[in-house]
Amino acid sequence: MTDFDWNNYSLETQAIRAGHDRTNQDEHSIPIFATSSYVFKSAEEAALRFTGKQPGNIYSRFTNPTVDAFQQRLALMEKGERCLAFSSGMAAIMAIGMGLLKTGDHVLCSRSVFGNTVLMFQNYFDKFGVKTDFVELSNSAAWEAAIKPNTRFLFLETPSNPLIEIADIKAIADIAHKNGCLLIVDNVFCTPVLQKPLELGADIIVHSATKYIDGQGRCVGGAVVASDEIIEKYIYPYLRTGGATMSPFNAWVFLSGLETLAVRMKAHCDSAFELAKWLDVQPGVEKVYYPGLNSHPQHELAKSQQSHFGAVVSFELTEGKEHAWKVIDATNMLSITANLGDVKTTITHPATTTHGRLSPEVREEVGIKDSLVRISVGLEDLEDIKNDLLNGL
Ligand SMILES: *Cc1c(COP(=O)(O)O)cnc(C)c1O
Repeated sequence: MTDFDWNNYSLETQAIRAGHDRTNQDEHSIPIFATSSYVFKSAEEAALRFTGKQPGNIYSRFTNPTVDAFQQRLALMEKGERCLAFSSGMAAIMAIGMGLLKTGDHVLCSRSVFGNTVLMFQNYFDKFGVKTDFVELSNSAAWEAAIKPNTRFLFLETPSNPLIEIADIKAIADIAHKNGCLLIVDNVFCTPVLQKPLELGADIIVHSATKYIDGQGRCVGGAVVASDEIIEKYIYPYLRTGGATMSPFNAWVFLSGLETLAVRMKAHCDSAFELAKWLDVQPGVEKVYYPGLNSHPQHELAKSQQSHFGAVVSFELTEGKEHAWKVIDATNMLSITANLGDVKTTITHPATTTHGRLSPEVREEVGIKDSLVRISVGLEDLEDIKNDLLNGL
């Protein structure tokens, strides 16, 4: 398999076949290498491995063949030189900060990112003298205006959650590079099937494999994809020392998740688009947030930057919070959970769950109303999903 240059194959093929270095047992499916350490043929070989003069495994906190297969596969799919897997998406974000930041540095972050990402910058990196400012995701000029001489990187997630705003990755990457900063993109909502941030100019991609990459809600994991230089200089040394390694079992689950990612994402997005159009004409629905709709302010940008519009749909009810809770509580089948990216459709009320810790003023400012409901559209029959929503509508 190592003779192949997988770069010559399409994403769908890479997702199924790349990364597996078949062993002398001729297995068809990738084995789970459940081993914490590796054996050397001699004392000299051990010494060479430890100095890095001879490539090879030493200890599974550093490298493991099952985890390597996942890393190689995801790197190819994202068109990156190298990928490192982590125990969770947050561990991946933590590694980027620990690897790249030092006291006195400044970070610019979109104000519409995953809640724990905000806390990571605000509560933890801040303790070590790294200040973070938060800016409006879709306003490229605001990013430019907020850069300081000590800004190390810009961090964003597009589309955002739960209002599905879109950032112009190419424009913001240009702004970052003009000012000597890196651009980091959390690609969880799109996956490489829908969007390839590195091709648009981003320097680092971060993933929570927990969402669409697994796709069936089984394991927690994360990844960083970047150039060889960035990984080797900043991320790998921290992983080796910090130790938030992905387990071989989880890597094995994520490998099979990647195999079906392209077909799943397309089916998720097709259903979400249909559901958004349907919601848009339902009585009781005030407004639908979905980039596939012409009414979405960044519809054209989403069309040029993504291959599909994504599988998360948010909508506002006409009668406020009571109405939103009523729609959620009247569902029989949908899962009431803040998780997303599952074959099972999930429904949630952002203002009292994921964004409940924000003050009402901040929620108002970022546009998350009490009447807002978010759906992560799964792969059940679309008519069944609509019927479940009709109970409360
Ligand atoms: C879930 C999520 C994360 C964090 O990932 P975990 O695997 O839960 O640690 C980061 N970013 C986004 C967009 C997410 O949805």
